[in-house]
Amino acid sequence: MTQSQVAQRSENVATQADYPGSLFVVAAPSGAGKSSLVKALLELDTRVHPTVSHTTRTPRGQEKHGREYFFISNAEFDAMVGNRAFIEWANVHGNRYGTAQKAVEDRILQGADVVLEIDFQGAMQIKEVFANAVLIFILPPSLEELRSRLERRGEDKPDVIELRMRNACVEMAQAEKFDYVIINEVFERAVFDLKSVVHSQRLRYRAQQRARADVFNALGIDA
Ligand code: 5GP
Repeated sequence: MTQSQVAQRSENVATQADYPGSLFVVAAPSGAGKSSLVKALLELDTRVHPTVSHTTRTPRGQEKHGREYFFISNAEFDAMVGNRAFIEWANVHGNRYGTAQKAVEDRILQGADVVLEIDFQGAMQIKEVFANAVLIFILPPSLEELRSRLERRGEDKPDVIELRMRNACVEMAQAEKFDYVIINEVFERAVFDLKSVVHSQRLRYRAQQRARADVFNALGIDA
């Protein structure tokens, strides 16, 4: 998305600052374990809802339209961009990916917690539209470990692994713009960290005030 498209987007979305649900955005270089971590979070916490992005890339393996992604053509993607249907979109590794506005906005307005698993460019766009979004960056413990995870995954040829390693360095330089950093060294520890971020968000004053209005009222604290 261009800067002016993001600015326009911000004007159209009425929910800039305050909305009852939390919006978590998880980004990471490929191979850092983002998908496994988010999957574990969703299994542990049924109050967090995933979204299904749209992409122009073709399905891999057992992927199903509407489950992992909505797989759409370039023309369909262009039409959605034209209709301002995306809250953010970006070019990642040669394909376009986007998050539909309705997949996010309706839910967080209704008080649901939503997690987006997107790239860092999309995360930056989300922060401009939803100022309260919680940005989480997942880091591998070292470059060596990242490379060996990509090799063990066995999905990519050596030249693609080199490209992913170069992209990873560019992406990791963006980690400082995120609210939280989780180092995925020991998987269970990283899941705990991610769950802790989600939990701490629910303890914020405004969230508690909404969730436990009964207690606030009984205590005479202005709700
Ligand atoms: P993959 O094709 O391997 O599923 O995803 C490639 C990258 O695109 C991953 O970093 C993934 O998180 C990111 N991605 C997936 N959906 C979206 C989206 O809706 N928006 C953006 N900006 N990135 C996405």
